[in-house]
Amino acid sequence: IYILAIESSCDDTSVAVLKNNTILSNVVASQKIHEEYGGVVPELASRAHQQNIVPVTDQALAKANIDKKQLSAIAFTRGPGLLGSLLVGTSFAKSLSLALDIPLIEVNHMQAHILAHFIKADTMKTPAFPFIALTISGGHTQIVKVKDFFDMEILGQTLDDAVGETFDKSAKVLDLPYPGGPLIDKYAATGNPYAFEFPIPKVKDLDFSFSGLKTSILYFIQKQTSQNPNFIQENLEDICASIQFTIIQILMRKLKKVVKKTGIKNIAIGGGVSANSGIRKALKAAEKELGWTTYIPNFEFCTDNAGMIGIVGYYKFKLGQFTSQETSAKARYHITS
Ligand code: ATP
Ligand code: FE
Repeated sequence: IYILAIESSCDDTSVAVLKNNTILSNVVASQKIHEEYGGVVPELASRAHQQNIVPVTDQALAKANIDKKQLSAIAFTRGPGLLGSLLVGTSFAKSLSLALDIPLIEVNHMQAHILAHFIKADTMKTPAFPFIALTISGGHTQIVKVKDFFDMEILGQTLDDAVGETFDKSAKVLDLPYPGGPLIDKYAATGNPYAFEFPIPKVKDLDFSFSGLKTSILYFIQKQTSQNPNFIQENLEDICASIQFTIIQILMRKLKKVVKKTGIKNIAIGGGVSANSGIRKALKAAEKELGWTTYIPNFEFCTDNAGMIGIVGYYKFKLGQFTSQETSAKARYHITS
C-alpha cells in the first residue's frame, strides 16, 4: 500500500509518502513569514500553503521515487487547526483523489500526533495497548487513554493555554523570536533549574492550567527588568531552565497521577513539545525510577509532519475507512470523533 499524506493544519506545509507503515519521504516546508509577527498569521499561512503545496508534493514523490499512478490512497488532515490552512490541504487532497481515482482518507491531527508512534523506524518502539498518551503541542495539552488505534478517551486536558503556547509566550517575554519553545530548550541546557521559582498551579484531577504560570513569569520578568534592565541577558539560561523545569514538574505530576489512577504504566508523548529535551530526559528517568515503559517519538515526528498523517491513513486504509468528496475541513475536531 502506498499512501500520499498531506498536512496543512497550521504553519507547516508537509507531504509524505508511505509504503505500508514505513516512511519513504516526509517533506516539511516551514513558513518563515510568521517570525516577523511573533506568531502565526492565519491569512498568511493559508496563502503560503497555496504556494507550497504543489512543489512540496512533487518533492515528496520524487524523494520517495514513486509515481502518482502507484499511489493507493490520499490521506489528509481534516482538523483541528486553522480553517484557511486546512482548506488548502483538504481541497488539494480531494482533487488528487478525484484525478487519480483512488480513495480519500480523512485524519484527525491530534490522533495523528499520538499514532505517530506506529511509524516503523529503527529508533522507535511501538506502544502496546492500552497506553497513556500525553499530547503536548502548540494548541493542545491532553492526557489520553488509548485503548486501540481509533478508540481513545480524553482523561484530562488544559483549561486554558497549551504547553507549547506557554513555552512560546514565555519566550516572547524574554524577547526571543517565534516559535520560542526550541530556544527555551536550548538555553535551559546550560542553566540552573532551581535559580528561580515559579508556582505550580493547583488543578484538580488530570486537568491542566498554564495561564497563571504564564502571568507569573511575565510579572517576574517585568519586576526584575525594572530594577535591572539587563536582567534577561544576564540570567537567560537560568530563567529558561527554571521555566522549563516548572513546566516539566507540572506534566510529570499529572503523569504520576494518571498511572496511579489507571494502573497503566505505558506512557507515550506526542506533539511538538515532546521534542523538548527536558521532558524526554524526565521520562527516561521515570523508566528507571518508576518502572514505566515510555515511548518517545523521533524528532521529525514530534512537530507537525505529514508522516504522522500517513500512518493514520495506512491504518484507516486497512480498515476500509474512506471518506467521500463531500468531506470538508473542520477547525474544531474532537479526538474521539
Ligand atoms: P496542535 O498540534 O495542537 O494543533 P501545532 O500543530 O501548532 O498545534 P506542534 O507543531 O505539534 O503544534 O508543536 C509546536 C509547538 O511545539 C510550538 O509551541 C513549539 O514552541 C513547541 N516546541 C517545539 N520544539 C520544542 C522544544 N524543543 N521545547 C519546547 N517546545 C517545543
Ligand atoms: Fe500539531
